[in-house]
Amino acid sequence: MTSNPEEQKIVVVGGVAGGATAAARARRVNAQAEITILEKGSAVSFANCGLPYHLGGEIEQRGQLLVATAELFWNRFRISVRTKHEVKSIDREQKTVTGRTADGTTFSLPYDRLILSTGSEPVRPPFFEPNSRNVFHLWTLDDMDHIMAAMRDRPVQRATVVGAGFVGLEVVEQLVHRGVEVTLVERNPQVLGPLDREMARMIEDELRRNGVAMHLGGAIKSLTYEDNIATAVSLGDGTCIPTDLVIVGAGVRPRTQLALEAGLTIGSTGGVQVNEFMQTSDPNIYAVGDMVEYHHGVLNKPMRIPLAAPANRAGRVAGAHAALAKNVKDETSSMGSVFGTCIVRVFGLAAGSTGLNEKACRAAKIEHRAATIQATHHASYFPGAKNLTLKVIYRAGDGKLLGAQAVGAEGCDKRLDVIATVLHFGGTIEDLSKLDLAYAPPFGSAKDPLHMAAFVAENDLHHLPALTEFDSELDGMQIVDVRNASEIAQLPLAGAHWIPIDELAQRWTELDPQRPTVTVCHSGKRAHIAACWLHGQGFANVKNLNGGMSMRSR
Ligand code: FAD
Repeated sequence: MTSNPEEQKIVVVGGVAGGATAAARARRVNAQAEITILEKGSAVSFANCGLPYHLGGEIEQRGQLLVATAELFWNRFRISVRTKHEVKSIDREQKTVTGRTADGTTFSLPYDRLILSTGSEPVRPPFFEPNSRNVFHLWTLDDMDHIMAAMRDRPVQRATVVGAGFVGLEVVEQLVHRGVEVTLVERNPQVLGPLDREMARMIEDELRRNGVAMHLGGAIKSLTYEDNIATAVSLGDGTCIPTDLVIVGAGVRPRTQLALEAGLTIGSTGGVQVNEFMQTSDPNIYAVGDMVEYHHGVLNKPMRIPLAAPANRAGRVAGAHAALAKNVKDETSSMGSVFGTCIVRVFGLAAGSTGLNEKACRAAKIEHRAATIQATHHASYFPGAKNLTLKVIYRAGDGKLLGAQAVGAEGCDKRLDVIATVLHFGGTIEDLSKLDLAYAPPFGSAKDPLHMAAFVAENDLHHLPALTEFDSELDGMQIVDVRNASEIAQLPLAGAHWIPIDELAQRWTELDPQRPTVTVCHSGKRAHIAACWLHGQGFANVKNLNGGMSMRSR
């Protein structure tokens, strides 16, 4: 073993998001170390997040996906990249890794520090025939090449995408761009698991608007094959979907075999356990990316979060810590928490989330509240203003922010990122309401949607007035619908007492102040004014329907 840490041997296993970042960072902090990346695939540092966009032609050249090549790693960083080198085992006593190249040659390499970034692998459902010529995952460059080749070999008019997670929806969008008729099959009753049901509905509507047929809650029973080519997808309910191509995005699992066999501790989530510097239970071995469990900043417990940003951040942390001398390494930055912040574009809309959704709050038994607002992404009077729906979730009582979701044509990323920042600092709804944000009409509103969501949540917390959930049981309540006639004609609400908002000050005496009352409008804004008015007139128990009819109708 090398005694001088400046000259140590650093071996990185897996050379894409986390691994490539770790190696480059290690070199930047240690010019003398001998750094080698072992990658079982044929490319390093490719943009796996960009794969769907080449499929649809939006990223025109395949080469654009190759962020850095083996030559660049050597020329610029003097990092040796060995592609088609699969590591098969780790000898922790001897500090060596051994493996096999694609042509069957075995290799062995010593290390002082080992960084594992072996990623995750797509879940392969039982119907997935390995020999099939038109059923694929989209996880690697090779997968993408195979899909493109299959589409060149045989005309694809109809495709079935299995799984409505982020990758599945990106693939749907790109196939539609190529003029393919797409059917989406998802076994859960909604698309995009990180979103709550009513938020996901907006994306489902967008998919339908773009001609995508959907089978939500649809379990796949079997695929019909002819000559290793899938020709139809059969669902449990008897539906048969003729198809020319099937792309399966049914989730991923961490690739931990190597770590497991080396005796490294695997956490309760199935990911490799690491400390804040990404060291595993063996301090000479680091692990980053999809294969590890991170500290979830809201739940305060380990969680697997297979996303590119934490993988890159973790790679940077591990690379520096592994490469630095003992006396300085613990002064390098540590990983910190992860909140699962994510976003996807689906045709004309974006959707994303950060922190916990309501499903996760319920599962964790966190007493929470939610406020949903609709606003325009910049000043409504400025040309090009687009609708944005923002849902914030906070702890009942102290208003600690727990999470948020956004769906809209523009501006979702900015709102989610601000909320992720507040989450990082453990902030509250009150903190969110006080943020000093950049504003001019082309960019936002003097009261940004973030402020509006915080104001609604503050009102809720202080009962000024409180919100009632969009899907609450309204039977027995006095429902005061303050929408206008055309809104009511489009979307009637049975049993409601209709008083348009501008007539309420004159007609409120038609109502019974003793009855529990809920006010309703399209988005909750006018209903809030109505609820305040009625509260001011002595109504004992009045609430505002959160998100209004636009949410309830979903
Ligand atoms: P990877 O980047 O997957 O790298 C792991 C590498 O290890 C692989 O190249 C593999 O070949 C290699 N390897 C595995 N085992 C061995 C072994 N034994 N020996 C040698 N090499 C080995 N995330 C987002 O946040 N936003 C997105 O928009 C997004 N879009 C995505 C779109 C697609 C199509 C895909 C596939 C992923 C997307 N992701 C996205 C997820 C993101 O790419 C991953 O979270 C991230 O790449 C994980 O980094 P990693 O280093 O852990 O694994």
